[in-house]
Amino acid sequence: MKYVVVSGGVISGIGKGVLASSTGLLLKTLGLRVTSIKIDPYMNIDAGTMSPLEHGEVFVLNDGGEADLDLGNYERYLNITLTRDHNITTGKVYQQVIERERKGDYLGKTVQVVPHLTNAIQDWIERVAKVPVDDTGLEPEVCIIELGGTVGDIESAPFVEALRQFQFRVGHENFALIHVSLVPVIHGEQKTKPTQAAIKDLRSLGLSPDVIACRCSEKLEKPVIDKISMFCHVGPNQVLGVHDLNSTYHVPLLLIDQKMTKYLTQRLSLDSLNVKPEAKAKGEDLLNRWKVLTTKYDRSFETVKIALVGKYTHLKDSYISVIKSLEHSSMRVSRRLEIVWVEASDLELESNDTDKVKYHKAWHSLCCADGILVPGGFGSRGTEGMMQAAKWARENKIPFLGVCLGFQVATIEFVRNVVGITNSNSQEFVPELSDEEATVVYMPEIDKDKLGGTMRLGLRETVFQTEDSVLKKLYGGVDEILERHRHRYEINPKLISKIESKGLKFVGKDLAGERMEIFELENHPYYVAAQYHPEYLSKVLDPSKPFLGLVAAASGVLDKVLNGEIKPISQGDF
Ligand code: GLN
Repeated sequence: MKYVVVSGGVISGIGKGVLASSTGLLLKTLGLRVTSIKIDPYMNIDAGTMSPLEHGEVFVLNDGGEADLDLGNYERYLNITLTRDHNITTGKVYQQVIERERKGDYLGKTVQVVPHLTNAIQDWIERVAKVPVDDTGLEPEVCIIELGGTVGDIESAPFVEALRQFQFRVGHENFALIHVSLVPVIHGEQKTKPTQAAIKDLRSLGLSPDVIACRCSEKLEKPVIDKISMFCHVGPNQVLGVHDLNSTYHVPLLLIDQKMTKYLTQRLSLDSLNVKPEAKAKGEDLLNRWKVLTTKYDRSFETVKIALVGKYTHLKDSYISVIKSLEHSSMRVSRRLEIVWVEASDLELESNDTDKVKYHKAWHSLCCADGILVPGGFGSRGTEGMMQAAKWARENKIPFLGVCLGFQVATIEFVRNVVGITNSNSQEFVPELSDEEATVVYMPEIDKDKLGGTMRLGLRETVFQTEDSVLKKLYGGVDEILERHRHRYEINPKLISKIESKGLKFVGKDLAGERMEIFELENHPYYVAAQYHPEYLSKVLDPSKPFLGLVAAASGVLDKVLNGEIKPISQGDF
């Protein structure tokens, strides 16, 4: 197993995740099987309890693990399926060590950060790196490890020490380190001092960079590269410039241009892995598809405007998978994506904190959009505004996609205004609502009497109920699909027949046929919603189908997607 660690210096949030995923992709184009591990040095066991406004989206995995959003980056770039164990947090390793200590596993020894915690971290990495994650079902050959935060933080210290030891555990030719740094431009000058200081910190902790990836707003100048090389004690070929690009999908190509593949091949003796010719060809094919898709997108000029009506719009990372799904879809239909952010509560006139200007601006944005998306969320704030948005889309035949909460609020809107139960709502927002009036009810997953507060999480089946479904067609005509879930409430089974009789059809249900998974509205170009979160499985080269439907309908090309005129990049395109 070859390990590539991606760490960061200077400041966090400069794109370590994209760099790590791009590096993974680059290795995948060589035909290698690549996996990844994300280390989050916070104390939380997982991201499940973290507010999206503070930490961005909670990414849900097949196994129901609630993980850091970077795992989403890996899955999307590398087309792999990760597990909850691929996200290591301080909370998780401490929990494991403390549990072992209680069991007496340490045989009376004093349990310490070094060696017990650091050993636990290394064992964890070695164990999880071996888990097959792609369609070959084979053990991966390369593992990308992204260390969250910045080196030098108190909380990441045990991980840094574990990685320092790890380089000797696995051997020099199996361990490379990419340190992501920042080169700020001050008064037009590219400054190297922060990078020098960051590398000094890194070295003082016993880790040496093999590649210094310098994030910069502009292209790195040659003398700057030479200076970093000289002061940081690495060759100039080990200093890479990663400047701001119009799309992060170009980062892998930027790294290839700077010969990173060649460097890593030598540094990690990748040739010794003897990649089979078929795997090599698959890797080359991947690179070609990636190139064609990203350059084709650069050349598209027509835009598609999607209004994203949510409640966490101040931190765009809260909706990262949704944004990516829209991006993947617009790449497929060759439209430039313009996301119009609409804070749902701004659409409500009565809302206390909404002034008239905000209200009219929000409605203007909504009305100008080619398509409307209401994503997932929790709590009542903004839900009346989301219902207004759904109503607008429904009545004016604007393409609409609702996801999870979006599915629930759109159904409530329909029940109120079409079925005629005017006070209907979700028991999440009005717990005292009776089962006769509530459109959305509490759904204890296992035991109806046990109010454990557990969520329905991870991969579940949806069975199509009819041939007459646009989503079924988009999914390629299959009878059953598997998508990821994260919810506590569901559509009230008691109201189904009333709702369906008015034209809103539940065309997808769970295996037992009890839980509503997809609705589609009759006589509307695209009014679709799902209880599951299709955004978690969207891939760069394989966009999520409900999103593709929305973007295609909003671009006026849904029929071309359905009849195969618009199709994935194939070998004929390169
Ligand atoms: N709050 C809703 C529920 O728990 C929707 C959840 C979501 O959108 N992820 O069912």
